[in-house]
Amino acid sequence: MRTVLKTEKLHKVYTLGSLFRRIKINALDDVNLEVVSDQPVIVSLVGESGSGKTTLAKVVLRLVEPSAGSAMVCDHLVAGKGTKPTKREFLTTVQPIFQNPFEAFSSYRTVDSYLERTAIYVNQLSRREAIDAISQALASVGLKYADVKGKYPNQFSGGELQRVSVARALLPHPKIIIADEPVSMIDASLRMNVINLFLALKRDFGTSFLYITHDLATAYYISDYIAVMYRGCIVEFGQARAVLSEPQHPYTKLLLDSIPSTRWKWERKIAESDIETKEYRFTGCKFHNRCPLAQDICRQKRPQVVRLSDGRDVYCHLVQ
Ligand code: SF4
Repeated sequence: MRTVLKTEKLHKVYTLGSLFRRIKINALDDVNLEVVSDQPVIVSLVGESGSGKTTLAKVVLRLVEPSAGSAMVCDHLVAGKGTKPTKREFLTTVQPIFQNPFEAFSSYRTVDSYLERTAIYVNQLSRREAIDAISQALASVGLKYADVKGKYPNQFSGGELQRVSVARALLPHPKIIIADEPVSMIDASLRMNVINLFLALKRDFGTSFLYITHDLATAYYISDYIAVMYRGCIVEFGQARAVLSEPQHPYTKLLLDSIPSTRWKWERKIAESDIETKEYRFTGCKFHNRCPLAQDICRQKRPQVVRLSDGRDVYCHLVQ
């Protein structure tokens, strides 16, 4: 069995504001997650803006240092105290796909130069071998090398360029791809192409995914596991179908109630408009000022994890 993803007591504190009015935000507040599997899996992180899911992705990608705690991806410690993989080892294990493919490539460089650099530097291939590997990676996302070679990012549609990003991520044959809102800037008609591509890559190449999204419909469609986040905390985590068809945490229920059942798309703001920075500093349950079931204990004490019989974790005082 492999530890696909594990975080232990993961914290990330950001300081905002001016010199005279500093505010500390617990962007990640004691995040504990564990996915162990001998099969490739797709784990989705869902939550509103400000829930901490992108910060968690950045910690796992080693783009942000946590304030405390540790993170492990595919048996490699990537954050926290201990021996970490070298940059090359890391890039052959973990690859990112970002939200906006046009920001992932400079407009002054041809996209094939990025692919070549990855193949030569990370895969350590000769130039001839690199071209073969690039052609195969592009073929696996439905593109031809001849149609990509010598072209600049603005010569592609968003969907095509995101496919090139996926091909680039695939080149090192990573064990896991961290995809942060990978379809949110793509035309709706092309989104399912990319989502189905992830499923095909999981099946054909054994690649796992950490999929960060606002879109519950695609999360439901592709995920094996789902973690729901709120103000830096995990509130519910478990098998995707169980969590989304029978949510146990009041916040997960609110999310599902606030979107049309025929089309599970939820557009950022669900009940209140502003991100309340004070919510990040609540000592009790961070959801208590929006929860219809809140009781005194919820304001005073942070709920501990409750493991249900189906294996899911729920953080709520009322869940037994
Ligand atoms: Fe609501 Fe209390 Fe449960 Fe938090 S702990 S979700 S406030 S019932």
